Order: sequence, then C-alpha cells, then structure tokens
Amino acid sequence: MNINKNYKNLNENYLFSTVKNKVREFAEKNPDKEVIMLGIGDVTLPLCPAVIEALHSAVDEMSKKETFKGYGPEQGYDFLKNAINEYYLTRNVKLDLNEIFISDGAKSDLGNILDLLGTDNTVLIPDPVYPAYVDTNTMDGRKIVYIDATEENDFLPLPDFSQKCDIIYICSPNNPTGAVYNREQLKKWVEYALQNNALILFDSAYESFIDTDDLPNSIYEIENARKCAVEICSFSKTAGFTGTRCGYTVIPKDLVFDGLSLNKMWLRRQTTKYNGVPYIVQKAAAAVFSKEGQKQIKENLNYYKQNAKIIADTLDKLNIKYTGGKYSPYIWLKCPNNISSWDFFDLLLNKIAIVGTPGAGFGKNGENYFRVTSFNTREKTAEAMERLYNLFK
Ligand code: PLP
Repeated sequence: MNINKNYKNLNENYLFSTVKNKVREFAEKNPDKEVIMLGIGDVTLPLCPAVIEALHSAVDEMSKKETFKGYGPEQGYDFLKNAINEYYLTRNVKLDLNEIFISDGAKSDLGNILDLLGTDNTVLIPDPVYPAYVDTNTMDGRKIVYIDATEENDFLPLPDFSQKCDIIYICSPNNPTGAVYNREQLKKWVEYALQNNALILFDSAYESFIDTDDLPNSIYEIENARKCAVEICSFSKTAGFTGTRCGYTVIPKDLVFDGLSLNKMWLRRQTTKYNGVPYIVQKAAAAVFSKEGQKQIKENLNYYKQNAKIIADTLDKLNIKYTGGKYSPYIWLKCPNNISSWDFFDLLLNKIAIVGTPGAGFGKNGENYFRVTSFNTREKTAEAMERLYNLFK
C-alpha cells in the first residue's frame, strides 16, 4: 500500500494550539485578570428567530409520514437553490438553477473542487491567506506560487501578466486582512484568467459584510467571470451557520476545459461522493432569504460591524495602521514599532490580557501583523479597546 506522501509536506499548524497554551498559562498565573478574546474566527450570536422557526417546522415535517424526507437531491433542494438564485438576481447576476450546488459549507467545497483539477496545475495563492487553500493543494502535490498581499498594494494583489498560473485563489472580503477587491481590480483578475485559460476559485464566505453597491459581493458581477470562475460561499458568517453547516458553490456551465464541463464533472462528483445537506438544514438556510430572515441577519451583521468600528476608531486614535473592519469582521493591524506578530501577541496578553491572532500564522507577509476580530460581545470589545488605548496612548 502506497501512502499519499504529499501529506509529509504539510506544515504543522501550531498557531491556534500555541495561542491556547499561552492563554492557559497566563490565566493560571493571573486568576484575577479577565482575558478578552479578540482572536475568535467564529460567530457568537445565536441563529436568528426566522431560522429557528424554520428548523422547528422542518423537524415537525420529519415526524409525519406524509411529509417525511429521506435522501434528497445531492446537489440540494430547489427551494433553497431558488432562494439563492433570487439573491443573485438582486445583484443582476443571472444563474441557471443547475449552476448552484448546496454544500455543508465552504471549507468542504474548497477542498473537494480540487478533485476536478489536475495535479500538474500551478496554483496562485495570496500571502497572507486562509490556510486551507495551501494545505488542500499540498495534499494533492500541486505547485504553489505565492503572490504578496502587502501594505504597498493595499493587501489586494493584482495579476502579473508575465507569470503563468492555472488556478487562482481570491478571497474577498479577505481572511485575514479584511481587504475587499473593487470591480476594476476583479476585472483584471478575470482578464488574466481568460488570457491564461486559468480558473479562479472565488471565496465569498464574507460577502454579506459588504453593504455598499460600490463593491462587488460576487465575482459574477464582473463581465465574463462566468467563463473563468467558480464561486464558493457559505451561510457560516452570513447567518451564524458555523455549527449548523450549509453553504453553496456556483459552477457556471460556461466553464469548459479540454472539452469537459466543470459543471457536469461536479454534478458527477457530488452524486458519486456525497448525499447532500440535511433537509432540515436546507430549510433553515432558505429562511435566511425570507424578509424577516434578511432583516434579522442584518441586525446580527451590524452588531459585529459596530464592534469592528469600535476597534477601528481606537486604532485611528492611536495612529496604528490597519486594514479591514469596514466590510469584514477582521481587522489586520500593523504591529507598533514593527515588532514581530508573536512579540505583539505576548505584549497584549501579558500587559492587558487581550488575545488576538499573530499574523505569522497566515503566511510570511503576516510577520509584523496581527488579526483581531469583531465576534466578541459589544461590552468586551469596548473594554478591550479601552485597555489597548490606555496601553499605547
Ligand atoms: N473561507 C474562508 C475565507 C474562511 O475564513 C472560512 C472559515 O472561517 C471558510 C471559508 C469556511 O467556512 P465554512 O464554515 O462554510 O466551512
């Protein structure tokens, strides 16, 4: 039996375990100090009432012979695909229902989509980045080329037309930097992909944090993106589904490589390897698009955005440089005096009992940066910012 030796090339990710150990040690030594976590990448507000109501009613349906559901369509129920389709129409993006596939979240599909793509492709990944892009490609043995997301390019790298790549990852709004591409910038990536016969994997997991028409929520708002991009999205951050699990992937029928349709290949893959998202969960996800659902999730998103504003305002007052926070739950700040991201982590923990995420955990360009999130409570976020202000003023 030959093992997949590519797994030997995976870097151990010590980031979150090291953070946890350091916090535990600190708490043991300082039982009187309240540690405030601003490293949370998970939502904290509960599911909204419209979603809970839909869950209860779907459970009741499962209890009656007449409405019980067994296996559903692997690619998702039409009621949810229709709701997603309507949502895209509000942005003037027209999709065919068969181009939408329901999943148990973005992470699974980001990994699974690679089943369709040759391992001899070169992959372009921004640095810093959500680590799953790197690890899933390393597992398959693909060659990875990094593109720098730095202060110089506002953390929004643009294509180098002299460099040939086949698969491109774009995450906008970005984790960890919170930076968001505008239409002109995404247009350049679409141009590059079309010129190179490349495929863009567009991760829009945080699109619902964009509440201005000036920025695109979907790559399909860009002309011809249907010919070169797959979009992967999720209800995790939009509606607090991190534990409930539901997302969707859009694979346009225009994506044809070597005479093979990616849409058909994905359908074949899903019907072979997957049996779909629970009916109950799909009903809950559909409720996100109801009038009440939209109103309620926006209230939750605004709560996080207000927290982000409290953080951003404090950094402004302290003259600490940062990006993100406006259309994203993440704020990516430059460590004062250019100290390393782990030194900054230790400083905040030991002096003011605040925990964030060292940028070095997201790639080499994160070395002097630090990620804080807006997912804690209003009270704790405000308290954390008061401590930060008093430390640096
Ligand atoms: N993509 C990005 C950029 C993320 O930050 C996350 C989760 O934090 C995911 C995808 C995964 O989302 P899901 O919960 O839908 O698997």
